[in-house]
Amino acid sequence: MIAAVVGTAHPTDTLDSRLCGNDRSGVRLRQIGEVVMPEEPRKLDIAKINKGLLDAFPLDYKSDALAGYLYLKYIYQFGYRLLKMMGRDVKEPDYQPVDEGTAEMVQLFADQVCARSLSKDTSIMHSKIVRPEDAIKLVRQTENMHLVPSERVIPFKLTREILFESPQEIAIGRCMCRGVAANPCVPPSEQDLCMWIGEPNVSFLVSQNPYFRKVTPMEAIKILEDAHKAGFIHCAYFEKPASDRFNCICNCCTCCCMSTTNWHLFGSNDNPFLAPSGYVPDVSEACNGCGDCAKVCFFNAISVDEKTKKAVVDLGKCMGCTLCEDKCPLQAIKMRLEPSIGEPLDIEALKRQQLGRK
Ligand code: SF4
Ligand code: SF4
Ligand code: SF4
Repeated sequence: MIAAVVGTAHPTDTLDSRLCGNDRSGVRLRQIGEVVMPEEPRKLDIAKINKGLLDAFPLDYKSDALAGYLYLKYIYQFGYRLLKMMGRDVKEPDYQPVDEGTAEMVQLFADQVCARSLSKDTSIMHSKIVRPEDAIKLVRQTENMHLVPSERVIPFKLTREILFESPQEIAIGRCMCRGVAANPCVPPSEQDLCMWIGEPNVSFLVSQNPYFRKVTPMEAIKILEDAHKAGFIHCAYFEKPASDRFNCICNCCTCCCMSTTNWHLFGSNDNPFLAPSGYVPDVSEACNGCGDCAKVCFFNAISVDEKTKKAVVDLGKCMGCTLCEDKCPLQAIKMRLEPSIGEPLDIEALKRQQLGRK
């Protein structure tokens, strides 16, 4: 069954037919043509790419490859169903039609993700906030590697490996949450904010999901920097259906994003969806109590003390997103490590630890 779905190319799974079928204006065709086919137009070996996806799942979890296939290929249909179950204002993505049978399988998968999401022991799609500099380190990797960060770094039982295969392969694609939001915070032309890293996911996405394209590491860094300037939070995602490993960096808002909005179910940095970065703001004497930091903090973690007229941080809520640091007009905030709420996802530090170096 899995091999039939994952390992075999569907007759329409060729780049040519996708381009002809989906693009009336020709813009998308040229866009993908520039990225995926820089020289001569060629057909991608979809069967080989699908086999690569199947191979990425360990023997005991081969059946997860079906969910992986459905997730990567129909990511907006999945997002629509998941966010709908969470009570969000969403609209079915008419740009990604599915037949009844596929819709049913995507729904089953979304049901499973939802049911498992309320505990750190069972959650299979979760993320960790990373500072912009730590996000950039993730997209700068060039070597294959296998790291298993501790639960101090990724506080979830399942799916917390960093297994890089060809990390220099990076794809950017339309944000799932904003792509199905009834009233997204940015228009579709500005929704390319999900950055997938490494194989086999990148080849799968750019060949079989028309809303993803390859970018170079330098382009990826520019996208991260621009997203940060726009006030978005960087989240490193670890997902079982995405080959059971770290798979992407999302540049999330605090209105459409399922993770940041779900945070309010728990109201704490100790929750089963989203881990804090491990950094918290330090407020200096320069603070004049203007309150600008509190206005940008989505997690209600910083406020101005009426008596002292200084900003104070709630260590039980702060996610270490750095938005307040960027917003402070007096540079009165500097982020510092706070070991009591976890350790950062700093890939260079993790590599040094693995090699037994300080
Ligand atoms: S997690 Fe963030 S970037 Fe990723 S799909 Fe959701 S809002 Fe978009
Ligand atoms: S933005 Fe800066 S100066 Fe204003 S209250 Fe926050 S820390 Fe103080
Ligand atoms: S206090 Fe600052 S770093 Fe902490 S969650 Fe709020 S905006 Fe982010």
